Amino acid sequence: MLIDGKLVSKEILEDLKQKTQKLNEKPGLAVILANDNPASKVYVNSKEKRALEIGFRSYVYRFDRNVKQTDLIKLIHELNQNPSVHGILIQLPLFNHLNAQQLIEIINPKKDVDGFHPVNVGRLHSGLKPYAVCCTPLGIMKLFEYYNIELTAKSALVIGRSNIVGRPMAELLLQKNATVTLAHSKTTNLKAIAKNSDIIISATGKANMITADMVKKGAVIIDVGIIKNLEGKLHGEVDFENIENIASYITPVPGGVGPMTIAMLMQNTYNLFKEAQNAKL
Ligand code: NAP
Repeated sequence: MLIDGKLVSKEILEDLKQKTQKLNEKPGLAVILANDNPASKVYVNSKEKRALEIGFRSYVYRFDRNVKQTDLIKLIHELNQNPSVHGILIQLPLFNHLNAQQLIEIINPKKDVDGFHPVNVGRLHSGLKPYAVCCTPLGIMKLFEYYNIELTAKSALVIGRSNIVGRPMAELLLQKNATVTLAHSKTTNLKAIAKNSDIIISATGKANMITADMVKKGAVIIDVGIIKNLEGKLHGEVDFENIENIASYITPVPGGVGPMTIAMLMQNTYNLFKEAQNAKL
């Protein structure tokens, strides 16, 4: 069965739009773009578009390569103080001369819409409620929920240990009682581990990571990869064509995890807005 992230994300965004229409004050999302990477520009434009469609306030700060670390530090301090801004996102990667981690660490954790601040990472990994959870793994958890995919006692393989996908993904699966293996580039027996897994989440950015001979009949396959081929067409890292008849559920690329990431960004912005409103009472 195809996991339709486009459909699920549309429902989430529609629900947020309805809720936002009823609000006097609107949730505000600030996005900082300090990179001339074309993909980052596209991502930022679509985040801005979605935010405006729902009825959020959208603030996008675009910088050229002359921007200094101190300019961004100043901006983040201002956004932390701005009561109309509820979520702050730094689009990664940044220009090479900038220090992303230092900037992430000065975002108020209560406005850290990506869930990258060490306070939120620490809360997630200690089993405490973070102010926000990283959007991509959160979106994948929503897909499991939407399609009633059971996680308790299932063997789940997460491939890739980045801070934005693999690590938080593994933690969220663990919290739902899956037995988790977190694999990476130094893992030696990946095929054997994959073949025994009920769930495989592949997030490496490497083409053809998951081939049909690695998949057990009935496994759930989640493809996080976004790879552009020579013709500029997007594809994932799973051999979709040869696996769709073996898997019980599978995500396409595009139209699987990607749209959920944006939907979760909007959901996180809305939740941070609600928290800020409640704190005022
Ligand atoms: P990343 O930071 O580059 O991390 C890649 C991870 O994959 C690393 O942990 C690396 O291991 C591991 N890896 C690389 N080659 C491997 C191999 N041959 N076998 C096993 N593990 C291997 O990437 P990321 O930011 O997590 O993103 C991964 C992919 O997801 C990219 O294609 C990205 O574009 C995509 N993505 C999609 C969304 C979405 O919304 N759909 C969101 C975020 C990212 P080491 O740690 O040992 O180096």
